[in-house]
Amino acid sequence: MEMKLTETTIKSRGKAYLVGAGPGDPGLITVRGLEILKRAEVVIYDYLAGKKLLRHVPKDAELIYAGKRGGVKHTHTQDEINQMLVDRVKSGKRVVRLKGGDPFIFGRGGEELEELVKAGLSFEAVPGVTSASAAATFAGIPITHRRYTASVAFITGHEDPNKKKSNIAWDKISTGVGTLVFYMGIKNLESIVGNLMKHGRDPKTPVAVVRWASRPNQRSVVGTLDTIAEIVRKEDIKPPALTIVGDVVKCRNTINWYEQRPLFGRRIVVTRTRDQASELVALLEENGANCLEFATISLQPPDSWDELDNALVGLDRFQWLLFTSINAIHAFFGRLFEKGLDVRAVAHCKIASVGRVTNECLRSYGLVSDLMPEKFTGEGMAEAFEKVGVQGDSILIPRALKAREILPERLTAAGAQVHVVPVYQNKRPESFDGMHEKLLANLTDRQVDMVTFTSSSTVTNFIEMIGVKNRQELQSLMEGVRIAAIGPITAKTVEENGLTVHVQPGKYTIPDMVDAIVADALAK
Ligand code: SAH
Repeated sequence: MEMKLTETTIKSRGKAYLVGAGPGDPGLITVRGLEILKRAEVVIYDYLAGKKLLRHVPKDAELIYAGKRGGVKHTHTQDEINQMLVDRVKSGKRVVRLKGGDPFIFGRGGEELEELVKAGLSFEAVPGVTSASAAATFAGIPITHRRYTASVAFITGHEDPNKKKSNIAWDKISTGVGTLVFYMGIKNLESIVGNLMKHGRDPKTPVAVVRWASRPNQRSVVGTLDTIAEIVRKEDIKPPALTIVGDVVKCRNTINWYEQRPLFGRRIVVTRTRDQASELVALLEENGANCLEFATISLQPPDSWDELDNALVGLDRFQWLLFTSINAIHAFFGRLFEKGLDVRAVAHCKIASVGRVTNECLRSYGLVSDLMPEKFTGEGMAEAFEKVGVQGDSILIPRALKAREILPERLTAAGAQVHVVPVYQNKRPESFDGMHEKLLANLTDRQVDMVTFTSSSTVTNFIEMIGVKNRQELQSLMEGVRIAAIGPITAKTVEENGLTVHVQPGKYTIPDMVDAIVADALAK
């Protein structure tokens, strides 16, 4: 009896969530879909469900790639997928079935839910932004427009053209519907346009084909019914791509916003640590860049905490606490909390921070900075301190193991007692993950437009990591690649290695760096 009860409880806890992942840009999943992903215990995902979304899945969740890619051998058959889904839910798990676009639009979502119903299991379904809608939006083609059409149809282009009797009423849709969107139709494009013209659609009707809509590598071509098949062949447009037929395609001439962003289609390498790269990547992507994240730095604790621990015991003697990076803030307070202390331990200290980001970080600990320089460099910070006067003050600087000495030197010269303690160290990552090969291949194939450096160590580590033998090899690998450096120190390191800096912002912040990169792109 008891046994049975337990069984029912477990069974009722298991649930399937059929979630539309959207067209590829990870920002285009629904809020509900994301909530569910964050609580997933199992995720069964498809080829077209943006991989980047998997970052939100709890680390201990089981990830199953279900494959399915037109033309390529399927990783799992539909029956196997259905079975995996049913089995996992039966075992009491929260199983997310993540599908590209909308699961109910050419996604077999209906079939999978029927299986769950048959097995008596509970589920929830969440719609997604279907790729037709995304392709239209990101190619600058309103899928309906009062001036051009009052109707739209989503049609499969996958149907075997040699089939005796088609399920598609070509005679009706060819002229009966304003906008036609074909999914999975690249291989059969010739027969699709042929059918439309045969059934009366004007051969001069505009057509757009959009590949990888909403992703940084989106590509689109435009033609007319009688030219598009040839254009697609010439331009070598491969699946996944959508074909949009109708007069609305004309609107693209005016509102093609996405592909006209200044960095669209440019491959930009970002060399910061994974945690720090996000702001830079987000801003570059918003301007259309296709970023490749190649982390050249991994943050590690110092070899010993002794120096910080000693300082923590004698915090009373410091008048100032100075932070030059958010890494230092997190590491400092991380250790302080570990020691059973809280922020009141620094209540008597004045706090100096080096810029907007460090300032915001301090706020998240409930602290407000008392001193911030106008120029965000060691020199700028020293000047700010010299202005307020630090004669006789003790200053604690928790920071990276290796850092420039200019600030401590100038503060000492200004009459302060400076106490520097290491709270983290920048190391070169030991394992390279897949990004290493990808970067090398991209460089060798001349696919990289720009590399960004945000500190001297990103430069030296980058060079060590790509494994060139000498300066000539480096120069030839980097030929034609533009280089952006965040400030003069980083730029100097670039030049010392025999490379040229093309972009350098006036102010040493990430947003200023991105502005400079955009200006550089527009000038070319
Ligand atoms: N359920 C999905 C469609 C799956 S069928 C949806 O709602 O979007 C697979 C087809 O969708 C592909 O062959 C291609 O035609 C289209 N597709 C999916 N994602 C796409 C994308 N990002 N860009 C262009 N076409 C895409």
